[in-house]
Amino acid sequence: MNHANTSLPARQREVRDYLGPDRVRALQRPIRVLDYGMIIALPALSIAVLAACFLVQSPVALVLLTLAQGTIFQLFGLLNHEFFVHRKVGGQFGHGLSMLFTAPIQLSATRYADAHWAHHENVVTPEDSEAYKSDLDTRLKRYLFLTAIGTRWAASGKMGAGRAPYFALRRPTAKAISRARVEATLSALILVGAVVAAFFAPKAILFGYLLPLLLVLPALNAIRILIEHAEIQPDNPFSIASRFRCGVFEEILFLFDSGEYHLIHHFLPNVPFYRMRAARAALHDFFDNRDVRRTRGWWRLLRSWYLGNRRHGTWWSAQTAPVAKSTIVGGRQG
Ligand SMILES: [Zn+2]
Repeated sequence: MNHANTSLPARQREVRDYLGPDRVRALQRPIRVLDYGMIIALPALSIAVLAACFLVQSPVALVLLTLAQGTIFQLFGLLNHEFFVHRKVGGQFGHGLSMLFTAPIQLSATRYADAHWAHHENVVTPEDSEAYKSDLDTRLKRYLFLTAIGTRWAASGKMGAGRAPYFALRRPTAKAISRARVEATLSALILVGAVVAAFFAPKAILFGYLLPLLLVLPALNAIRILIEHAEIQPDNPFSIASRFRCGVFEEILFLFDSGEYHLIHHFLPNVPFYRMRAARAALHDFFDNRDVRRTRGWWRLLRSWYLGNRRHGTWWSAQTAPVAKSTIVGGRQG
């Protein structure tokens, strides 16, 4: 890969210079009401779904609620990523708030933040903490990755040779270790609490918590993680994420962090989700001028990955869409 030819900080500087400091500041400006509104609304929505699982009897409704809760759980992870890993919303209370969104989905806020920084610093290089994706080299591993078992296997690093575990603390400071311990305890307590609660309200806990956590969330996470950097041009230093257009569905499902938005995120990590469309418009020509080619949408990426057996992080030229189509309707081209 030639990505090391121009250092990532130098490429990020090029993006910021292109926009100018005022534009960068405007794109990164937070709207506090929206931020804290989300912090309240998302858990409230999750509790409402849990309550609905307690009340409804229809199997179809229960399945739909399970899917909804799994989607909300993925949004918990994405909100944690944007608010507490990158934008440091909540200041000194950020870590506590972060646990509100990570402990219920059995994620360690500290370990995730540590791994995620290693991803940003080394994106699409062999040192990338997400480099385990290149170990997903058989159909069985790829399908297993959609499940909780496969996710754990991939994260353990044991899918490939000489791979460090994804959640191993890269900067094991005393503070990080003690925080990770608190987080693990809290997650375990929530899980035990859920199992105990299942004796009193089995339907609500099964469809409103356990199935979303164990079935829906891993599948959604796998899809999101795969498509973020699936098809890139290894010889183009600005092609570090799959550049596909997101429609409203993808914007909500992935909280403005997939496709083109993910590409932007790696160059400007502190843009809030509600300013991502503005960032996309501001950087459209920048990426076109650097020949960052578009892929044809995430469904096609997934199809090529699962059925075409394409290698992660390469250019899948047979399905290349024309470059620089600025009049794309909806989420998918072609
Ligand atoms: Zn990030």
